[in-house]
Amino acid sequence: MQRVTLKDKTFVPYITSDKILASVKVMAQKINADLTDDMPLFLVVLNGSFMFAADLLKEVTIPCEICFIKLASYHGTSSTGTVTEMIGLTDEIKGRTVVVVEDIVDTGITLEKLVTLLTKKEVKQIKVASFLLKPDAYTKTLKIDYVGMEIPNDFVVGYGLDYDGLGRNMKDIFVLDKNVDSK
Ligand code: 5GP
Repeated sequence: MQRVTLKDKTFVPYITSDKILASVKVMAQKINADLTDDMPLFLVVLNGSFMFAADLLKEVTIPCEICFIKLASYHGTSSTGTVTEMIGLTDEIKGRTVVVVEDIVDTGITLEKLVTLLTKKEVKQIKVASFLLKPDAYTKTLKIDYVGMEIPNDFVVGYGLDYDGLGRNMKDIFVLDKNVDSK
């Protein structure tokens, strides 16, 4: 693996595709064992999770459904400030087991907002599967049920994750080379 430059930043190899896929397989095995009889609905949070979701769900062998959503933030007119909205949810989710599929959890703010929205829809239970987790950045108490890998608080790209729109298509994960630039 070679270093890559995306716009003004240089990234160095971090996690190989082989390691990623091995870890995703273990996640799927746990989900298969835990949710065998639940007929879960996998809620894939776009854009970043598309690659992880595809690999994960190829290894999920229990009966399930899959739905893709996007989160949009806008400033509400009330004093509540930023409001988060879920776009693309077409399935009825009341009473269902929902598995949120995330690429990465950093502070956990995004995830907490999504879980709040899902709770209002009276789901039966919410499970969270995130391929990456930055424990040092995580500020929330919500349990992340399935984690592929824990990483330090560094900026990574590839495997669905972008830098300014670029790098999502790379099958390996790269980390920002702090020695080269930190603009
Ligand atoms: P949080 O709300 O947990 O702080 O951040 C979640 C979102 O921030 C992720 O879904 C992702 O879009 C973005 N993010 C957080 N850390 C990284 C990172 O290291 N690399 C990239 N490309 N995006 C990140």
